[in-house]
Amino acid sequence: MEFLFTMPETRVLFGRGAFSKLKEEVGRLGCSAPLVLTTPSKRSRERIERALPPLKYELYDGARMHVPLESVEGALEFMKGRTFDCLAAVGGGSSIGLAKALALRTGLPIIAVPTTYAGSEMTPIWGITEKGVKTTGRDGRVLPKSVIYDPELFASLPASVAGVSAMNALAHCVEALYAENANPVTDLFAEDAIRLLTGNLGASLRGDDQEALESVLRGAWMGGMVLAMTTMGLHHKLCHTLGGTLDLPHAETHAVVLPHVIAFNREHAEDAMKKIARGFGVTTAFDAARAAHALLTEIGAKNALKDLGMKSEDIERIADLATRNKYYNPRPFGAAELVPLLENAYWGRPPV
Ligand code: NAD
Repeated sequence: MEFLFTMPETRVLFGRGAFSKLKEEVGRLGCSAPLVLTTPSKRSRERIERALPPLKYELYDGARMHVPLESVEGALEFMKGRTFDCLAAVGGGSSIGLAKALALRTGLPIIAVPTTYAGSEMTPIWGITEKGVKTTGRDGRVLPKSVIYDPELFASLPASVAGVSAMNALAHCVEALYAENANPVTDLFAEDAIRLLTGNLGASLRGDDQEALESVLRGAWMGGMVLAMTTMGLHHKLCHTLGGTLDLPHAETHAVVLPHVIAFNREHAEDAMKKIARGFGVTTAFDAARAAHALLTEIGAKNALKDLGMKSEDIERIADLATRNKYYNPRPFGAAELVPLLENAYWGRPPV
């Protein structure tokens, strides 16, 4: 066996009420003047106003999905003439993504307080969208120095957002298991995270099961870690293409596509497929694909790309675009093999 393992350098605080430690985390970095980044929401603003004083901070709530260049420029404009020594992102992947884009330009350290299961807080991956084209990259400067997971912040997350966001986390774990650069640690994290996510998601969405919600959040944390440590395959490439080209919503697209990609890859990467099946608590990878599809119904998510804004004439174009650049996937394929997969996902059929 050969592998490369790099220890991530992020401090993680997990626990109910942990958001109140944000001030201390700012101080720990030797900082005292954070710029807080979030999406526009009265609740989020009030939460921050309760937690941060007497610390001197400013709040910019212009974060947008897929980090459009305009939102980065807006934030840079806001920063002009003011002095900040760190960035605090409070929100989902969009808020954390904006902080990452600003860290790239300013070199300021990030403290992330995630409020969805997207996992960006654990990765050095950044993305910026300019004129409809999303560019992504990896850079150590954007990896948050400190991450605060507070399950209490998830009480306000609508079930419709939480369910698909957790499916996004599930996709990180599935693809990490068959990644070319998987290692024994990512394997352990990914399998356990699949178990935590699939075993607790339904209960966590009913609103009265704190333990289930905490388990899902732990699964999402591990999902973020394996996303950082491995390279994703076909599933992420397809979702990236669907999101970037057709502007389909990020987490919802991941949720619809995942069962079909598990089925597509199931005869390859035998060992990884066993782990995926075990994580789902089923016998075969095909059962896991079916279970992922059934999970969509359980969480009340859409199961068809046509319901997310895709048109049937887009199928061949997406298959073509998703095969233009070479990347690793356990099952080799060309555009022709992707068409039936996309057709099934388009119509919301069960994986075959
Ligand atoms: P998001 O951050 O846009 O959040 C979705 C919606 O939920 C927003 O309207 C937000 O205001 C709201 N919301 C978030 N938390 C809430 C809460 N606790 N209560 C009530 N409302 C809440 O979406 P997302 O799915 O978290 O992130 C998607 C973005 O993250 C995409 O741009 C994706 O590319 C990126 N992403 C990046 C990485 C990475 O490693 N760089 C990983 C995963 C996702």
